[in-house]
Amino acid sequence: MIGANYRVPQIDAARCQTCRQCRARKTCRLKALVQFEASELPYIDRELCRGCLVCVEECPFQAIQVESR
Ligand code: SF4
Ligand code: SF4
Repeated sequence: MIGANYRVPQIDAARCQTCRQCRARKTCRLKALVQFEASELPYIDRELCRGCLVCVEECPFQAIQVESR
């Protein structure tokens, strides 16, 4: 979203363990963290995400990161 004053985190593919069920995904109430198939690299839908960063805390591998700017 243009002009949004929050930051959308991203999945770091190098860190992500492509868990069978992404536990961070379950914490996103907006369903912005998407994992279509089990054991697949999840991604964050920028249109849905509102930058609450709850998912960042939930990933045990620190694979969800906020870009610095
Ligand atoms: S983002 Fe974290 S919890 Fe989700 S699949 Fe990747 S490593 Fe697992
Ligand atoms: S930052 Fe919040 S809204 Fe965005 S994907 Fe993570 S839990 Fe969902």
